Amino acid sequence: MAKQEDQFKKVISHAKEYGYVFQSSEIYDGLSAVYDYAQNGVELKKNLREYWWKAMVQMHDNIVGLDAAIFMHPTTWKASGHVDAFNDPLIDNKDSKKRYRADVLIEDYVAKYDDKIEKEVKKAEKRFGDSFDKEQFLATNPRVLEYKEKGAAILARMGKSLENEDLADVKALIEELGISCPLSGSKSWTDVKQFNLMFGTKLGASAEHATDLYLRPETAQGIFVNFLNVQKTGRMKIPFGIAQTGKAFRNEIVARQFIFRQREFEQMEMQFFVRPGTQKEWYETWKESRLKWHLSLGLGMDNYRFHDHDKLAHYADAAADIEFKFPFGFKELEGIHSRTDFDLKAHQEFSGKKIQYFDNEINENYIPYVVETSVGLDRLFLAVFSNSLQEEELEDGSSRTVLKLPAVVAPNKAAILPLVKKDGLPEIAKDIFDQLKFDFNVTYDEKDAIGRRYRRQDANGTPFCIAVDYETKDDNMVTIRHRDTMEQKRVAIADLKSIIDAEVNMGVWLNKAK
Ligand code: ATP
Repeated sequence: MAKQEDQFKKVISHAKEYGYVFQSSEIYDGLSAVYDYAQNGVELKKNLREYWWKAMVQMHDNIVGLDAAIFMHPTTWKASGHVDAFNDPLIDNKDSKKRYRADVLIEDYVAKYDDKIEKEVKKAEKRFGDSFDKEQFLATNPRVLEYKEKGAAILARMGKSLENEDLADVKALIEELGISCPLSGSKSWTDVKQFNLMFGTKLGASAEHATDLYLRPETAQGIFVNFLNVQKTGRMKIPFGIAQTGKAFRNEIVARQFIFRQREFEQMEMQFFVRPGTQKEWYETWKESRLKWHLSLGLGMDNYRFHDHDKLAHYADAAADIEFKFPFGFKELEGIHSRTDFDLKAHQEFSGKKIQYFDNEINENYIPYVVETSVGLDRLFLAVFSNSLQEEELEDGSSRTVLKLPAVVAPNKAAILPLVKKDGLPEIAKDIFDQLKFDFNVTYDEKDAIGRRYRRQDANGTPFCIAVDYETKDDNMVTIRHRDTMEQKRVAIADLKSIIDAEVNMGVWLNKAK
């Protein structure tokens, strides 16, 4: 656990030191759970957003984009159920006065069983060596099965109590499990209460005529209320999707864990409208497709897993999360939800406008069903960034800090470095910069010894360094150094564009998501 915490602290300080993420309003001691993306962070975030957008909109002839406003008519949130049901169950510890989400306390307790299972696997791996079959071990070992069963039973009880609004039982469960406050160690808890997560604001100049508005807590509703507009003007035929990225706001009770849980964050959502009765198939299709997309970034299957929901939201008939192994354990990165016709039906009812689709293949009018994929851009950022930050032992006994970001999303694709700051080398380097800048984000650096500049770019996540030396003047060749292998090669300046492109081209990476 201590090792995990150390690694997480390193991630946070590296993000600050290298201009990726800053605490918001830091000069005023910061605003809790709100962050700013700095010079490198904004590029990484933009590239991740674009990588998602291309995979969704550009690669599908039946998915189109949308950019709806953050403010929406207040009735939207009545219809969607957010006014009445967008609550988190909260509980206070009487001694530490700290507030927690009751469901998170219980989930963290259950996560300890996962740790125990992992320990059993490690022990067995050692014992059986090469003949170890992990799948079989997980499916048959009595201790593993016992842990799984206990965890599942706790989650099932919690799911049922929350669904039935039986908050007394949620508290009883916390007490029965002997869960104590992580801060004070005390088991003295208040009752569990519901807390609405929406931020309210006002529209209008004078207090008495102002309208109460909410900052949207999800981008999805902007898509639902525009369903007919997009379907008609785009002449879309079911099945089709609408994709959107944008800010969402939630007054999170427990906002810890850096950019994982913020009060202002960005979502990338796609609502896929389907014929009723086909939603289960589409749900499975999108689950698979979204996992493949994540895997195309190359972080490895061991870092992902599905978590099927026991407790379904009021609008869903099936739901799963893609969880990622963050520095603090497996947690939700993306949600895939089969939302039925709940939202469109509710908007039809509340607006009094007919929201239906005429399906001429079956000659029927209906309210489409919806399968949603919803990923947090900031969580994706944290997943990619934390996994890429590595401390490497080198052959000569030294070590280096390297940020092995997938090259396709790295903020700078190459750094151009003149060996010395004189004798015409900076001019050649700047000329290379001017040639490459039309195709790639590149950076120029002439300060410090070349070795130190290489290390700085490694820590910055730049996939290539291009060194200009005295020989360049004669042969028009430069040394290109690869961040991950540290391999250096002499290549012609004229070939730089194609060498870089082969490794950073979005199309090549997206092809892996097929
Ligand atoms: P959690 O259970 O972690 O609170 P959620 O199930 O409420 O998340 P959804 O409503 O399904 O989340 O939102 C879709 C995605 O938006 C999540 O998978 C996550 O990546 C992202 N997200 C949700 N809340 C936050 C937040 N407070 N900060 C950053 N990202 C968030």
